Amino acid sequence: VQEDIASPKKTKELLQRHGFTLKKSLGQNFLIDPNILYKIVSAAGLDSAKGALEIGPGIGALTQQLAKTAGRVVAIEIDQRLLPLLEETLEPYPNASVVQGDVLKVDLKPLFEQYFQGFEPVSVVANLPYYITTPIIMKLLEEKLPLEHIVVMIQKEVAERMSARPGGKDYGSLSIAVQYYCEPELVTIVPHTVFIPQPNVDSAVIKLKVRGKPPVEVEDEAFFFDVVQASFVQRRKTIYNNLASRFYTKETKSELEAVLQEAGIEPSRRGETLSIQEYANLSRCLSRALG
Ligand code: SAM
Repeated sequence: VQEDIASPKKTKELLQRHGFTLKKSLGQNFLIDPNILYKIVSAAGLDSAKGALEIGPGIGALTQQLAKTAGRVVAIEIDQRLLPLLEETLEPYPNASVVQGDVLKVDLKPLFEQYFQGFEPVSVVANLPYYITTPIIMKLLEEKLPLEHIVVMIQKEVAERMSARPGGKDYGSLSIAVQYYCEPELVTIVPHTVFIPQPNVDSAVIKLKVRGKPPVEVEDEAFFFDVVQASFVQRRKTIYNNLASRFYTKETKSELEAVLQEAGIEPSRRGETLSIQEYANLSRCLSRALG
């Protein structure tokens, strides 16, 4: 039985022996509590027939638990200085591979073909570098990879925005983008004390169950997301005013009233009150009206 990497003692010993200094700019906050790791791994529903993609393995604390559960694990790490540490910590796990690179630049389709054939579906399981949480999640979703779950530790307030329902201050274009592709579920709130060093924001684990197909029918996804984005440009403004500034001129903006009426949306509503279904109707009506 291998010792857990995720303990304060083991983590400090490894960092010290390798002369490793943590880089704040890379979001290097390492997990030192195995119980949190078990929660993350069990939320992902992995087994030996499935694959796991980790982003930012650090010294391998989560990678180790993934390798014990999944059939194949690939971990993308940007910091070259971590490679010798990972070589040591992951040595007992031949089903785990480390790929050095920036996750935002790595072409994931060929990576999936190379590593995960016979291990699909794959889940993304990670304690994300917080400075790029949203771009990473959007990249994973927009590339339409064969993913089952995305289980990630992120800032608590971002987790709340991702899972927000219409009507509140947390609901916005991120909620709609994430919920278009996934069903979100908050797994647990995580205290500062389980990291070295402790981050200065609150953290949460969120599970995104990737949908087989979107919950609404959308003809033109790019336009749909454009409408959503435009509706939240100024949160305090009405949907009418936000859409008018994005899609109409002073001379033509009276046409927008008919479009909103056709979509069944009161012009005085705010963007934060519209459901995904209402945005889908609205983008269809607006796209026809604009030709
Ligand atoms: N998984 C480890 C753990 O839970 O202890 C480390 C998590 S730490 C929050 C984030 C990790 O992501 C760091 O190892 C950092 O070097 C890495 N990282 C930061 N930016 C990255 C990027 N653009 N691509 C890949 N890895 C990145």
